[in-house]
Amino acid sequence: MNIIFLGSAGVGKGTNANRVAMHYSIPTISSGDLLRAEVAASSAIGKKAKAYMDKGVLVPNEIIDIMIKNRLQKPDCKNGFILDGYPRNLEQAKLLDKSMKIDTVINYFASTKVILERLGGRMSCSKCDKGYNINTIKKPKEAGICDECGGKLVQRDDDKPDAIKKRLDVYKKQVKPVIEYYKKQNILTDIDSSYGYNELHKIIDPTIKAIDSA
Ligand code: AMP
Repeated sequence: MNIIFLGSAGVGKGTNANRVAMHYSIPTISSGDLLRAEVAASSAIGKKAKAYMDKGVLVPNEIIDIMIKNRLQKPDCKNGFILDGYPRNLEQAKLLDKSMKIDTVINYFASTKVILERLGGRMSCSKCDKGYNINTIKKPKEAGICDECGGKLVQRDDDKPDAIKKRLDVYKKQVKPVIEYYKKQNILTDIDSSYGYNELHKIIDPTIKAIDSA
């Protein structure tokens, strides 16, 4: 069961992926998380990727493709996986096809208003990296402070308004051919992801239905 979740930043892909991955007992592989881990570890990949990520533009394919390929070869992927954030352009999609058979693609969408509200509120702990959102029920008990470790909450450079707009523009331009590519293969389902945290079943139920019928 090899699954791809498409959708711009702020569409809720990560949250949905974690729920659906739990349902099928398969891992979620987020290209953004993998890259952030490389940056945090100051690895060769991380050092190369950081400048692109801070600007809110895509990291070059030759950096990211090897990282994803290596991750998909790990034993926990043998029954399948959910890819979150990859592929982001047609070259990545075509390359992925060479090494993996993709069974189904879920394309999440939400209005720009909803997306800006969600992303503008995202904060994470500077010490333990726990994520929060000051515009949703995921806000911390005390403003600016991590519930878990008392660390200072900070906004990711690429969640600041200018970077958000750039990310949305880049995403739309780059991912349009990817959507067309999977539509032609008849494996893509569009799902409205505008619902709030207490209505997640309105997103997760149709996702599971689409995957089960693939
Ligand atoms: P995300 O957490 O998915 O929004 O990703 C954060 C940043 O990581 C993006 O703005 C890009 O700079 C980089 N990134 C994540 N996934 C990819 C990808 N598939 N291709 C290129 N760059 C990526």
